[in-house]
Amino acid sequence: MQSSGMEHLDVNTLNKAGQLRPGNSGGWQWTREGKQVASISTRATSQHLILSYRLRPDETDWQDITQQIPIAWVSCPYGGQRPYFLCPSFINGRYCGRRVRKLYLGRGYFLCRHCQNAAYASQSETRLDRARRRADKRRMALGSDPGHESFVRKPKGMHHSTFERHLDFIRAADYCFDLEFIETVRRRFAWIDPHNPL
Ligand SMILES: [Zn+2]
Repeated sequence: MQSSGMEHLDVNTLNKAGQLRPGNSGGWQWTREGKQVASISTRATSQHLILSYRLRPDETDWQDITQQIPIAWVSCPYGGQRPYFLCPSFINGRYCGRRVRKLYLGRGYFLCRHCQNAAYASQSETRLDRARRRADKRRMALGSDPGHESFVRKPKGMHHSTFERHLDFIRAADYCFDLEFIETVRRRFAWIDPHNPL
């Protein structure tokens, strides 16, 4: 699998791809402008999804990182079981453990939306977040979805040159995002000890 955004892991997607079956392995790559900047491989046990990252923020050596994410299987009312991640984060010394379908990349590892917000609220805004937020705000003002990959359509009735100015803004913010991306990957992952999985 390939993903151009470094945004989240979806437990349903992984499950459908068979990557949660104990003993199964899988993986995908993250690319920026066609270049592979990171790859992840997954290995499932009966209770965990083990993520192994390989990050290559620039042309230097690959860095290996491992994270173990607990998986909870919850019985459905009409039979079968549905998987959830248990958010593995510790924020200010407290374990989260929330049952979630998606984990988002932030603060060096994957964590639930709530923890990501809590983590960001407790620190000063980074340039990356600011760039992303500004681009998203403008995208949404134009009626598009937020997100780096979201296609922006010209709203009906808007003058072409006005639309172009909005696009310039979004491109500039996206460019800033790209520049910051490499540095952020390095910063976010630098403190993880690959020999000491979370
Ligand atoms: Zn959490």
